[in-house]
Amino acid sequence: MQIDAKIPGGPLEEKWDRHRFDLKLVNPANKRKFEIIVIGTGLAGGSASASLAELGYHVKTFCIQDSPRRAHSIAAQGGINAAKNYQNDGDSIWRLFYDTIKGGDFRSREANVYRLAQLSNYIIDHCVAQGIPFARDYGGLLANRSFGGAQVSRTFYARGQTGQQLLLGAYGALMRQVAAGNVEMFARREMLDLVIINGQARGIIARNLITGEIESYAADAVLLTSGGYGNIYYLSTNAESSNVGACFRAYKRGAVFANPCFTQIHPTCIPHTGDHQSKLTLMSESLRNDGRVWVPRNSGDIREPRNIPEPDRFYFLEEKYPSFGNLVPRDVASRNAKDQCDAGRGVGLTRCAVYLDFSDAIQRDGKALIAKKYGNLFEMYERITDETPYESPMMIFPASHYTMGGLWVDYNLMSNIPGLFVLGEANFSDHGANRLGASALMQGLADGYFIIPYTIGGYFAGTALEPVAPDHAAFNEATLESQAKLQKLMSIQGKRTVDNIFRELGRIMWEHCGMSRHSEGLEKALQLIRNLRAEFWENVLIPGNDKDFNKSLEKAGRLADSLEFAETMVLDAKTREESCGSHFRTEHQTEDGEAKRNDDNFCHVSIWQYQGQEERPAFHKEPLVFENVELSQRSYK
Ligand SMILES: Cc1cc2nc3c(=O)[nH]c(=O)nc-3n(C[C@H](O)[C@H](O)[C@H](O)COP(=O)(O)OP(=O)(O)OC[C@H]3O[C@@H](n4cnc5c(N)ncnc54)[C@H](O)[C@@H]3O)c2cc1C
Repeated sequence: MQIDAKIPGGPLEEKWDRHRFDLKLVNPANKRKFEIIVIGTGLAGGSASASLAELGYHVKTFCIQDSPRRAHSIAAQGGINAAKNYQNDGDSIWRLFYDTIKGGDFRSREANVYRLAQLSNYIIDHCVAQGIPFARDYGGLLANRSFGGAQVSRTFYARGQTGQQLLLGAYGALMRQVAAGNVEMFARREMLDLVIINGQARGIIARNLITGEIESYAADAVLLTSGGYGNIYYLSTNAESSNVGACFRAYKRGAVFANPCFTQIHPTCIPHTGDHQSKLTLMSESLRNDGRVWVPRNSGDIREPRNIPEPDRFYFLEEKYPSFGNLVPRDVASRNAKDQCDAGRGVGLTRCAVYLDFSDAIQRDGKALIAKKYGNLFEMYERITDETPYESPMMIFPASHYTMGGLWVDYNLMSNIPGLFVLGEANFSDHGANRLGASALMQGLADGYFIIPYTIGGYFAGTALEPVAPDHAAFNEATLESQAKLQKLMSIQGKRTVDNIFRELGRIMWEHCGMSRHSEGLEKALQLIRNLRAEFWENVLIPGNDKDFNKSLEKAGRLADSLEFAETMVLDAKTREESCGSHFRTEHQTEDGEAKRNDDNFCHVSIWQYQGQEERPAFHKEPLVFENVELSQRSYK
């Protein structure tokens, strides 16, 4: 298989502009002849649907929730990055580019990341024009704060509700196009399969989640914007409906998957307390602007935090990383928190937590200012834990949060299947082995508002597309396959609930393919996953029927995909014999416990191609070429 990222030539700064000029255009009168399917209504899908419809294409948009406005993006809290340099603190497009490449531990493409940094500035202007209520300073100018992995303040925010405000902007633009008749909105539909005709993506099979009906939709191109797969760990900060299904089904139809083992464990979440939980709650990274992370210096010190005097407190991030302090990137902060707990210095009932303390900030800036910045996050914390961070430090611990891996795409965001584009968290494109905070919203909106409107035109203008209708044999075949799978699931009637099996998968993944990994554990995980998959297909219990609204059936379908996909993740982690970013192989670490890359053998994107359920997927590489930055050992000290 030929992997061609189609990165344009020329200087880094000029690639995107030149490429936009080189891309063929579709004449305005012809645009309305093209049908585009968009799976997902988060920031990537909502912005893409609205922008493509605005251009004149006919768009059909699908989502699992009852309203496009409930996509997981609504949960994003802390902010969105842009290289505006409003603070005059030394920021630039180049610095955002460099921070992102370094933050991802040199495992992403230079050209994509540079384009992302360039587009970041347009996103803010666009969103301000939409009326997004970004925080402003006293004089009315847009305010900024810092996120991990950066020494400048470049994060634009709307209190702790940035995703919500940005999504309302994209949703408004989308609904304008629904009202204009350019977007047909299909809520409560789940894509079950991708339909490929003559080697091109030409439609989808979807299940109406209310009636259970299986439906076929044809189009000239399909956009997957279905989000990430962080829920593979069962407990995560992701919305319940975030899942790998749409991407995995495209993978089974031939789309290749890149870097599946690159998953992000976020350092600041409310700790896990027991088996009753189905979710973990994020406490935004923005809190590390003012909160100080610490543990008791002596293991086993169980005094109340307020009774532990300064000399007995270990501000481990500040001591170990004086340059970045509490604002080291997520992978570094998470690993250090785990190390402290492993060394017996963890706090709270389970001893699996560290403190995030605002007392100094409150003393310095006053309660009112801190409340203004983080009030809603503090309230959320108090509602869940019954403790107020104004009076005692928060307790936090790492949890699954984001996935850098995703379907492979070229510079045009097109997968290896012509006509199948992948945007937002669902693709692998920009974050390498670790995503910096506030960069996912930036990427989703860059993809949807500013990249796909150009690159899809280039595809249409340069591609012969035969007319295709949903009664084509390929749709019938895919429908029968989807129906057979649903019937098989309904016929098992075993003894274990979907959640019970899912929780076990989550434990396997967390223990062996989570914050740290090693060869033996990964080998063990492969066997455990296979056994659990076999048990699932013999013993899962799904009440109700498939012609109805049936949450267990929905979840079972997604779990079936996860049980297969988990193996690819583990295989990827096992094959990558190095540590980089969030992928920490205990065999490969520096003397002081940092990730030790192996650039000679692993400076590439790992790409997996499906070969059948019981077969090992084929492995391909996309070499990563660095012409503008020097590969160095990442240091935040
Ligand atoms: C709690 C939390 C806070 C965060 N805070 C920040 C932040 O401050 N800054 C930042 O940059 N990033 C943040 N992130 C990350 C960021 O929110 C996500 O990466 C981003 O919103 C993903 O957007 P998306 O459009 O790619 O996908 P999503 O918003 O996940 O949307 C996916 C869409 O696909 C649909 N879908 C999925 N599967 C199917 C299917 N099979 N059929 C039909 N539809 C389907 C869903 O219904 C949904 O509409 C945060 C993440 C979490 C979990």
